[in-house]
Amino acid sequence: MAMATMGHLRDQVRGEILAPEDASYDDARRVYNAMIDRRPRVIVRCAGVDDVMAAVNFAREGGLSIAVRGGSHSVPGFGTADDAVVIDLVRMQGIEVDPTRKTARAQGGATWGAFNDATHEHGLATTGGIISTTGVGGLTLGGGIGYLSRGHGLSCDNLRAAEVVTADGRIVAATANENEDLFWALRGGGGNFGVVTAFEYDVHPVREVYGGPILFELSDAADVLRFYREFIRDAPEEFGGFPAWQIAPPLPFIPEDRQGEPFLIFVTCWAGPIEEGEAALKPIRDVAPVVAEHVGPMPYPAINSAFDALVPAGLQHYWKANFVKELTDDAIAAHLEHGPKVPTVNSTVHIYPINGACHRVASDATAFAYRDATFATVIAGMWPDPAENDANTAWVRGFYDATAPHSEAGGYVNFMAGDDQERIKDNYKGNYDRLVDVKRKYDPGNLFHHNQNIRP
Ligand SMILES: Cc1cc2nc3c(=O)[nH]c(=O)nc-3n(C[C@H](O)[C@H](O)[C@H](O)COP(=O)(O)OP(=O)(O)OC[C@H]3O[C@@H](n4cnc5c(N)ncnc54)[C@H](O)[C@@H]3O)c2cc1C
Repeated sequence: MAMATMGHLRDQVRGEILAPEDASYDDARRVYNAMIDRRPRVIVRCAGVDDVMAAVNFAREGGLSIAVRGGSHSVPGFGTADDAVVIDLVRMQGIEVDPTRKTARAQGGATWGAFNDATHEHGLATTGGIISTTGVGGLTLGGGIGYLSRGHGLSCDNLRAAEVVTADGRIVAATANENEDLFWALRGGGGNFGVVTAFEYDVHPVREVYGGPILFELSDAADVLRFYREFIRDAPEEFGGFPAWQIAPPLPFIPEDRQGEPFLIFVTCWAGPIEEGEAALKPIRDVAPVVAEHVGPMPYPAINSAFDALVPAGLQHYWKANFVKELTDDAIAAHLEHGPKVPTVNSTVHIYPINGACHRVASDATAFAYRDATFATVIAGMWPDPAENDANTAWVRGFYDATAPHSEAGGYVNFMAGDDQERIKDNYKGNYDRLVDVKRKYDPGNLFHHNQNIRP
């Protein structure tokens, strides 16, 4: 039956179909995290909504699971799975901006780089990820944290509408007035509810920002982190930077004899009037002597691609995450113990601020529940050599174990590993039961389970 249905699928789909016998299958099954090595039954590179519907129906009728791939950045590799139908949205990357309404519509496979470039032409932007190759799809559905979160909320807070192919193969709209339950669940609930073929966002006047990385000595890291926890409480919402543990890459602005050393780096981004940028960042520069910095005015898309070179596709990835309400002295002590041991130039730990506009959304207004957390921490292990897997995952786990007692039970689903599935109820706190209800309504058979899964 599977073969017959496969022929039918080939007839129906305008895009590409790649099965194990096809020459480009091995290339097509690769995802961003090189640690993931799965063999899907078929990869459907959809050319449009009809293809998505055909692929969903094919999977459901054939008793196969579905893995949805947008930008391919999922660290647990949720964009592929053994024996699954991969719905690959790489050919669906269209973006349309409406500068009059201040909205932008992106197809489900678009990346933030292309989105930012398109909106920047009109001097507009919305909250997106800090790396340009990340997909708008996975990032928005999990919440979406970036430089503009404090001023404009999470990416999902800027979502006005979604077009969704559900498990029964229907296409539905999800907005504040239509299928409101689905719209609620899509804003933080991940890829659990269907394939989103288009996202429509509010966009805001942001053309240029003032920012970049400022490097501090490890011996000053405690002072910088203690400063950060106070500063961020009521810093202007135009400020959207974060401290990071990072090995200095070989870049011209860093003294050659310091390249390759670990530092506490304050990544800064001021999205207010450019002429106020220097004064806005002065309190950070004043905390301790600056080792090196690369700060100045730049177009918003430039800061969102400034670190792309550190994270090329094909690295090994293992990440852990926590929400944090208070960066206590004990939490800082745990950071000081593990941060300086950051093992590779690709790896990093970011303590993102998620207060400001993120806090003005009620914790039950969207699926994203942690509206009372001040920070979202990610411990992102990334390294090129698979022979180093044990050492690198051990660093991530050690860091996580040390900081977990000073953190909330839940973490941001998009920063988590595949072995974090048992944290799902904690990640959604009081919203979990409602998510289960929505899942039962839109995907009772759990066709979409390659994700941080909400079981129906
Ligand atoms: C280098 C790097 C930088 C990152 N930076 C940030 C950051 O700054 N801020 C932040 O919040 N997160 C960040 N993340 C985490 C990121 O949000 C998640 O990895 C997210 O899942 C990536 O989405 P994607 O579309 O690229 O991934 P994919 O692997 O393509 O998709 C991941 C999952 O999301 C779901 N999904 C994706 N698209 C759709 C769709 N159209 N319809 C339905 N389901 C879909 C599916 O369940 C899919 O399996 C980063 C990740 C990486 C690797």
